[in-house]
Amino acid sequence: MFLEDTIKSSDKGGWIEVICGSMFSGKTEELIRRLRRAEYAKLNVEIYKPKMEVRYSEDEVVSHDDTSIRSTPVETSRNILLLSNNVDVVGIDEAQFFDIGLIEVCNDLANRGMRVIVAGLDTDFLGNPFGPIPALMATAEYVTKVHAICMRCGCLANHSHRTSEEKKIVVLGETDIYEPLCRKCYQKEIQSSKQQDDK
Ligand code: ZN
Repeated sequence: MFLEDTIKSSDKGGWIEVICGSMFSGKTEELIRRLRRAEYAKLNVEIYKPKMEVRYSEDEVVSHDDTSIRSTPVETSRNILLLSNNVDVVGIDEAQFFDIGLIEVCNDLANRGMRVIVAGLDTDFLGNPFGPIPALMATAEYVTKVHAICMRCGCLANHSHRTSEEKKIVVLGETDIYEPLCRKCYQKEIQSSKQQDDK
């Protein structure tokens, strides 16, 4: 489990933490856990999410296990910079949906002395690196990769397999159209859907 090296220290500079993984891997739960601890430490916490992400609640970050925390939906990554005065800890959920400018924004906030915690999908449904997450992983001080459980075999799952025919990269959904799969089961699935297409 990730433990803050110093939860409260004014002379320590800022830093970036990334929490990434597939769908249903507990990213948001982990983000909320860290943010709550910062709140207990009486730190000023602000949480943002992209405006499009309205799966559950307009102004709350809600995890699959129904814990929630108040958040501000923002249009672009620039808005995070503008809204983060007098903040000690910045939380960002569903970060894969933000523009690429998020990388500079997070680094800027950390350079100003803030702790920045970013949660997001590391890969899309095709298994490709997703939006600003890869570059954030590279520039972050701490990266935590969390895993779901494969729905087929019970191994650790790394892939968000889409069970619908939709081909767009961004399709919001839950267990209705996504399932976590391990590498082996995901490959099996891709092969068999290729064979279907060839017929
Ligand atoms: Zn599997």
